[in-house]
Amino acid sequence: MGRVIVVANQKGGVGKTTTAVNLAACMAAAGRPTLLIDLDPQGNASSGLGIDRAALERTVYNALVDGVALHEIVVPGPMEHLSVAPSTKDLVGAELELVNATEREFRLRRQIEGVRDAYEYVFIDCPPSLGLLTLNGLVASDGVLITLQCEYYALEGLSELLHTIVLVRDSLNPQLKLQGVLLTMFQHTNLSNQVVADVRAHLGQKVYETVIPRNVTLSEAPSFGQPVILYDVRSPGARAYIALATEVAARG
Ligand code: ADP
Ligand code: MG
Repeated sequence: MGRVIVVANQKGGVGKTTTAVNLAACMAAAGRPTLLIDLDPQGNASSGLGIDRAALERTVYNALVDGVALHEIVVPGPMEHLSVAPSTKDLVGAELELVNATEREFRLRRQIEGVRDAYEYVFIDCPPSLGLLTLNGLVASDGVLITLQCEYYALEGLSELLHTIVLVRDSLNPQLKLQGVLLTMFQHTNLSNQVVADVRAHLGQKVYETVIPRNVTLSEAPSFGQPVILYDVRSPGARAYIALATEVAARG
């Protein structure tokens, strides 16, 4: 059965989407059937993998709100073994429409149960909030991967996120684990080095050895609809995500 890993942090711009997209692509490149679920109404994971959102008839919105089966909304990604459950800004409405729905926190979990045997990995890209969409992601997953940007306020909001994970584990999803904490956008500055040292001191073994460098190739690749390993496999960003994929797989 596939491992389900949700990439979360309620802060925006900390490398969630870049990580979800590129980690999924690295797993697929290793021959592991992988599904990337775009749970952010901004749809950056979908567009970053070259999916024309205007042409979509059904999206994650329909899976969550109308109960359309996930396999019916999944589209092929830009490489073999990579599939995408895409989103558009319609998904904003789901948060409101599900407020009074039964089992509203379990919508994604139930959907993934139907496709879990088809994939070795399922990655979920979350919006920058701790609302109902992210909650669905946490309830549906085996592990949480938290991205932290190497900047001054890296740890801001982290205790709230860790507390949310504990609440979900205690009530809705007992098997939820912290897969790991990923430092992103590292630069060779005193500040970045200080953040890495602080985060490692604070979170110890939970922090991945791999640190993702700030690398312009990572920010260019999405505009070509490609993960970085297709766009420029020799770039520092591609190498880093390949190393991260090995670590994630080793942690199980
Ligand atoms: P989030 O999903 O947490 O909002 P993104 O992954 O979209 O964050 O990253 C925010 C912006 O920073 C995007 O424009 C992205 O291309 C860029 N970015 C992310 N990671 C890196 C990196 N390691 N190096 C350079 N640019 C990056
Ligand atoms: Mg994002």
